[in-house]
Amino acid sequence: MKKLKGHKISPGVSIGPVYYVERTNYLVPRTYIKNDEIPLEILKFRKAIGKAITELTELKSLLKGKLRDDQLQLIDSQLVAMADEEMIKEVFRRIRKSKKNIAWVYHEIMTEYENMLKNTGSLYQSERVIDINDIKRRVLHHLIFNEKYNLPKIQTPSIVICERMSPSDLIHLHDQDILGVITRYGGFDSHTGILARALNIPYISGVDIDKINENSNVILDADNEQVIIDPDPILEHEYQERRKKFITKIKYFRVEGEEHKTKDGKQIDIYVNAGFFEEVKLINISSVKGIGLFRTEYICFEKNAIPDEDEQFELYTKVLLHMKGKPVAFRVFDFGRDKILDILDITALKGMEVLEDVGGVRFMLENPSLLVTQFRSFIRASKNGEIRILLPLVSKVDEIDASIKLFRKVMNETDCKSLGCRTDIPIGAMVETKTAIENLEEIAKRVDFMSIGTNDLAVYLLGKGRDEYMIKNHYHPEMFRAIKKVVEVGKTHKKPVYVCGEMAADPISLIGLIAIGIDSISINLSAFKTVVDLISRISFKEVRKMEKLILSETNILSLYKILKAKYDEIMSN
Ligand code: PEP
Ligand code: MG
Repeated sequence: MKKLKGHKISPGVSIGPVYYVERTNYLVPRTYIKNDEIPLEILKFRKAIGKAITELTELKSLLKGKLRDDQLQLIDSQLVAMADEEMIKEVFRRIRKSKKNIAWVYHEIMTEYENMLKNTGSLYQSERVIDINDIKRRVLHHLIFNEKYNLPKIQTPSIVICERMSPSDLIHLHDQDILGVITRYGGFDSHTGILARALNIPYISGVDIDKINENSNVILDADNEQVIIDPDPILEHEYQERRKKFITKIKYFRVEGEEHKTKDGKQIDIYVNAGFFEEVKLINISSVKGIGLFRTEYICFEKNAIPDEDEQFELYTKVLLHMKGKPVAFRVFDFGRDKILDILDITALKGMEVLEDVGGVRFMLENPSLLVTQFRSFIRASKNGEIRILLPLVSKVDEIDASIKLFRKVMNETDCKSLGCRTDIPIGAMVETKTAIENLEEIAKRVDFMSIGTNDLAVYLLGKGRDEYMIKNHYHPEMFRAIKKVVEVGKTHKKPVYVCGEMAADPISLIGLIAIGIDSISINLSAFKTVVDLISRISFKEVRKMEKLILSETNILSLYKILKAKYDEIMSN
């Protein structure tokens, strides 16, 4: 029995065998196969090589005339390396000997080859590494996603282990028997973290995963931030009981009541965040103000494609009808950063640099056909409820102007009268970049409301990686000062403001937010009960008195201590 430490990303406990997946740009499944499965795996490999060769040959003919001959030769050398007889023989030899599945074997051999080239010390050879990596990714793409996204098939309920996990990986694994997630890297505010909490999948990151064997049985105790490898039977039994309790708690989670007020009667509006219809179905409609953030890009992860206008229209309609007239803020697809779609043919889209760099509304403006389709489905769905539109990761004013102009154009082209659509759909901006904070006045003038995305704001304001374990961003004084500015500008321009990032779901930072004048939040359903409970215990007057102190603080740790002390005091009463 061995214990490893980590960081809690999503609470809960689970017990089970481990399932290792290796991530390149996507997950490489690692399973052992039976003798009689070898021919099928080899056939898969031949097909994948064939598809990759066709693809490269097509690429070469497309580029003819656009590139110089010596540049085109680079593609030829990739074609030669891809079909290299020695490499193919080695793949066949190793699959027979090791009984590892084909993607695993191929990934292993190509990685060894890359490492060998890297270690030669020659500049020429090290440049070839890029080529080899490219070939590896191209072939693996066809091996793993041969028709549809063919995810790693988990044979028995397991705890998935990998270096890092993307949101789309998690969505696909969720359909299978995934008991939990252990990764080396991954942040609390990452989308994978947000999703794991929404899907109630225990998740722990920052673990030295090399210390866990492929055939281990582990306990994932996210609540105590530890992984126990090969536990003894008594401990395992104890954890089985805890697991049962964890599952029961999920099943019976419910909050009643419409209004959420502090002890001294101040109303705090609570909206929820969602990304799937399944989540929406779990909302007790009478206890929420509405949906403050619907992350529409999650449907793309779920489908591995961008849904067409009718598919989008159907989903938005379903959500609006389910919410029975309560407002729903659908956010325009927010691709980019940790939400780069691996599976989509995004190379066919424009603005890849934007996507890797920022994404958000700027990427959508680079690809107006995506934005037009989405706007049209919002407009068509609008007759079914109180729809709002949110523009993600806005930084400059011209992005808002361009989006609103396009929205109006789509609206004018739609026969709103006969379709019964609304013509007064409010448009809001997500305030989550440093530039947005700088341009706040101008932004506020143009939009109907502002929603503060603290997860990205921490990245752009403090320069922190979202994939790092950075919960302490929630207590950074600069964050509070920036949020206060939004509160004030919102007041001046009479535009509603709410916080929809994870800072609002963290009870300790929430106290600070209320102290500086935030009275409207949108949080994950999994945090709802804790937040409602905290709000009912707060004395608004007392908490507001902390404002000056919070805004004049300069040190994260000191601010954390102030907020934590208040939290402890509130909870002990
Ligand atoms: C945020 O950045 O805080 C936010 C709510 O948006 P997302 O987490 O989807 O980027
Ligand atoms: Mg964001």
